Amino acid sequence: MTAAGRIGGDGGWADGGGAELGPCPLCDRPLLAGPSVNLHHLVPRRFRGREAIPVHRICHDKIHAVLSDKELRDFFHTVERLRGHPEIEAFRRWVARKPPTFVDGHHRPGRADRRR
Ligand SMILES: [Zn+2]
Ligand SMILES: [Zn+2]
Repeated sequence: MTAAGRIGGDGGWADGGGAELGPCPLCDRPLLAGPSVNLHHLVPRRFRGREAIPVHRICHDKIHAVLSDKELRDFFHTVERLRGHPEIEAFRRWVARKPPTFVDGHHRPGRADRRR
């Protein structure tokens, strides 16, 4: 038990240490380092996008459930535009009441995708 002094907060976001990364640009809830956080490329990488922003995994899933890569490339490549999408706005209102680490693999209003 000589682990004193290593009480977490190493900054690595791989292991759920819970370090705050600031608010999610999509839903404004805090981002907590760990599996509930993803990186979203504003322009999809297959279109050579480079700029990536941390968002909740659930918010990320929502972006790609609603928008195709082409739509992201052609129009929805800024946070403001993403937030202005009606379906994403509705999602934001719904997710606002969930805890920041909430990850939901199933609830997809609209399209039921049962694969995987
Ligand atoms: Zn979010
Ligand atoms: Zn993405």
